[in-house]
Amino acid sequence: MKGPPHTVAAPRRGPVHGRYARLMLRSVILAASRSSRVERLVATAPFTRDVVRRFVAGAGTDDALRATRELVADGLAVTLDNLGEDTVTSDQANATRDEYLKLLRLLSAAGLTPAAEVSVKLSALGQKFDEQLAYDNARAICAAADGAGTTVTLDMEDHTTTDSTLDILAKLRKDYPSTGAVLQAYLRRTESDCRELAGPGSRVRLCKGAYKEPESVAYQSTGEVDKSYVRCLNILMSGDGYPMLATHDPRLIAIGEDRARWFDRSPDRFEFQMLYGIRPEEQARLVGEGYTMRTYVPYGDEWYGYLMRRLAERPANLAFFGRALISKK
Ligand SMILES: Cc1cc2nc3c(=O)[nH]c(=O)nc-3n(C[C@H](O)[C@H](O)[C@H](O)COP(=O)(O)OP(=O)(O)OC[C@H]3O[C@@H](n4cnc5c(N)ncnc54)[C@H](O)[C@@H]3O)c2cc1C
Repeated sequence: MKGPPHTVAAPRRGPVHGRYARLMLRSVILAASRSSRVERLVATAPFTRDVVRRFVAGAGTDDALRATRELVADGLAVTLDNLGEDTVTSDQANATRDEYLKLLRLLSAAGLTPAAEVSVKLSALGQKFDEQLAYDNARAICAAADGAGTTVTLDMEDHTTTDSTLDILAKLRKDYPSTGAVLQAYLRRTESDCRELAGPGSRVRLCKGAYKEPESVAYQSTGEVDKSYVRCLNILMSGDGYPMLATHDPRLIAIGEDRARWFDRSPDRFEFQMLYGIRPEEQARLVGEGYTMRTYVPYGDEWYGYLMRRLAERPANLAFFGRALISKK
């Protein structure tokens, strides 16, 4: 059988910003992300409240449940992320674990599983200073999710953590085979990781990648990242696993729909994923078309770091958040 096309046309370019301007912008945002004075300023600005309300469900577990209830009532699936990463003490890591255990109990009691699952950052569970602790905590969350009849997906962070995260994933999958992986199309290694992880039952979220990575490990241009995304999507959609296509990019969504037809994948054998507050009308359209559409819902009081780090890691996200504020499509 002839394979699907492996390329994607070069994207139309917006206004060209110089490399220097991008670097400046990045260092300004990074400086701001470390400044408690700027945090106070940002936290009290009226514009910020709108941004936070649009992209973060709220500070508490009850906010997470409310947002989940609303999304599930609209036919969406959900994955919940308790904000916070790079914990530096075991007390913090264990507190994050306990928050997930509580969340899973409440989701199950409210009848919101399996529609809602959880997304977990291993760095929030201690990965940076004690890998065994991160594994133990992740395992406890997987056991609770299993008891609640739902699943866990391990978010992927910067490339220095990829091997450790995939190692922990492999260990978790021995007892909890539905544990989901995330692969980032901007990493040069990802096509090979997709081949490794495209086996039966393997849940794999494919995203472009949100961190600032060096050229030695990651494609730098939009066109290269998009082409890599399509190659990876082809591997996952033609494989035996369960692909989770996480993107807001209309061209990649259209290619996902096309490959589902090409590889005869019914809507229960893959899903689309997008972030809370981004392109809600497109999310509703995909639900209307009969696809599984999962919204990634962050909650917690560490929203400042979340928003600022997203901007700093990739200043293009400034436009990403800006676009989302003026567009629901
Ligand atoms: C569910 C989910 C989970 C994720 N998990 C991870 C993770 O674990 N690790 C990680 O590194 N990254 C993760 N990401 C982030 C991801 O890597 C990207 O940084 C982010 O999704 C932006 O890439 P994009 O594919 O949406 O396309 P972009 O390149 O940001 O946008 C492409 C095109 O999409 C359209 N578009 C984008 N945003 C809007 C908007 N607001 N309104 C209208 N059109 C828009 C525009 O046409 C735009 O040109 C996740 C993303 C999602 C959706």
